[in-house]
Amino acid sequence: MTAQDTPLLPNFLAGRWQTGTGRGTALLDPVTGEALVRADNTGLNLAEGFAFAREQGGAALRALSYGQRAALLAEVVKVLQANRDAYYDIATRNCGTVKNDSAVDIDGGIFTLGYYAKQGEALGNATCLLDGERIRMGKDPVFQTQHVLNPTRGVALFINAFNFPSWGLWEKAAPALLSGVPVIVKPATATAWLTQRMVEDVVQAGVLPVGALSVICGSSAGLMDQLQPFDVVSFTGSAETARIIRSHPAVAQRSVRCNIEADSLNSALLDPAATEGGEAFNLLVKEVVREMTVKSGQKCTAIRRVFVPRALYAATAAAIGARLAKTTVGNPRNEATRMGALVSREQFDNVVAGIAQLKTEAEVLYDGNVDGSATALVDADPAVAACVAPVLLGTPDPVGAKVLHEVEVFGPVATLMPYDSEAQAYELIRRGEGSLVASVYSEDPAFIARAAAELADSHGRVHAISPDVAASQTGHGNVMPMSLHGGPGRAGGGEELGGLRALGFYHRRSAVQASSAALDLLSAPLAAFGVTP
Ligand code: NAP
Repeated sequence: MTAQDTPLLPNFLAGRWQTGTGRGTALLDPVTGEALVRADNTGLNLAEGFAFAREQGGAALRALSYGQRAALLAEVVKVLQANRDAYYDIATRNCGTVKNDSAVDIDGGIFTLGYYAKQGEALGNATCLLDGERIRMGKDPVFQTQHVLNPTRGVALFINAFNFPSWGLWEKAAPALLSGVPVIVKPATATAWLTQRMVEDVVQAGVLPVGALSVICGSSAGLMDQLQPFDVVSFTGSAETARIIRSHPAVAQRSVRCNIEADSLNSALLDPAATEGGEAFNLLVKEVVREMTVKSGQKCTAIRRVFVPRALYAATAAAIGARLAKTTVGNPRNEATRMGALVSREQFDNVVAGIAQLKTEAEVLYDGNVDGSATALVDADPAVAACVAPVLLGTPDPVGAKVLHEVEVFGPVATLMPYDSEAQAYELIRRGEGSLVASVYSEDPAFIARAAAELADSHGRVHAISPDVAASQTGHGNVMPMSLHGGPGRAGGGEELGGLRALGFYHRRSAVQASSAALDLLSAPLAAFGVTP
């Protein structure tokens, strides 16, 4: 089948299915190069679609309580559970991921929805939230101020990245829908199929009010122009596109609230007192290898820089390399494959170019592409498949390095760097200029507490692994809905998840200054914000 013979993905906007009138962009199998479907939104009336979501979807959602909306999320979970096999099939074909990696996206998304369904249930019959206690305005307690949080009467536009077509939708949609805010999602074109299919299943099941969930596939042109003052936009993707979003008049002039999740040079730090083959050392080695290879390193939270005491530089390189050598790369349909493809041949080119850029400052400590993996791809043609084997780079001079602290290579690549003192390690980690997550490996709770205090201001999350939590820890790169996701500086400055904290983005805070009698009536039906059962 030629690309032009493949089906066009229908968009769901203004309460109806609409197919673009253009030729569209073909979505490909990154392993075989086969054209699968096309994405296009040419000719769609965006203004009508945004108004419909805002007016019909928003009004219908706001008429429900948090508890009722939480029940809708639970229904969405059931619909998605019932269609999981189809999602795995799409992920294999369009994302090139092995089953375990597809699960991170598909089941991770469903789990997050289920978590918010439970959290929302506890908010019960309320339709707005109380924020804190009443505060006296003067000596006389009769006139007080009460902060309240009301769902914004706008639409939430999600512009998402290619690496999480499922989780990226649901981790944002769960808190938005629970807040009573309708969602329009524009998935990244390369992997839009899975997002589109999930929305299609939910729409066909009729579990959400019409207009509560819409999907637009293909070009992003004109989407930001539709945004009005009470709308919000949540963007996940590259720093370059983030700059365009931030400077768009919707944000710069109309004050549309904007959340950005961008790229990040996340770190792993080994305790200065660690020893070769010790528990902390082994935990770091295992986690670095996992982070480099899960989803072929295409995770915004993946470990990119690994900091170890100088005396352990060579030993760490050898231990990581030995484990990486066991990673078979290739076609995810073959059971022998441990790591699948990158998302596209374009990403393949980007990763190859990125490795070359890092190599201007780093030596190669392990390269699976040279040591046999690429020429021995499992069931895949190296000239066609977007497969790159893991690469561990390193430099004995991390202080003098620049590129290594600046360039994120979105693939199975990490750089090992030795440090000479604890203070220097923190200094080097901070050269990432704000990251999503840093992980710390130590047997010493005092070191962990000190490192967390040092790193918390420049990281959205500090993930500390000691032998006592080795079996129960959730993983450096795994984003859990109860914990904050986001990071300062180059990570985008955004905040997502963190339990009910996520609802804040979709609510407007207002201070109501009134008599105690009026505040009694206002407060009675409201739920307290921050309830975490
Ligand atoms: P990207 O090229 O910036 O694309 C992201 C999204 O923006 C896509 O939906 C894209 O649509 C859209 N887009 C492109 N140009 C646009 C414009 N001018 N106006 C509005 N939207 C536009 O990023 P990507 O390559 O998909 O994602 C990889 C990056 O995302 C990595 O750097 C990674 O670190 C980051 N990421 C961060 C997180 C996080 O949570 N912090 C999570 C995942 C990924 P098209 O696909 O149609 O071009």
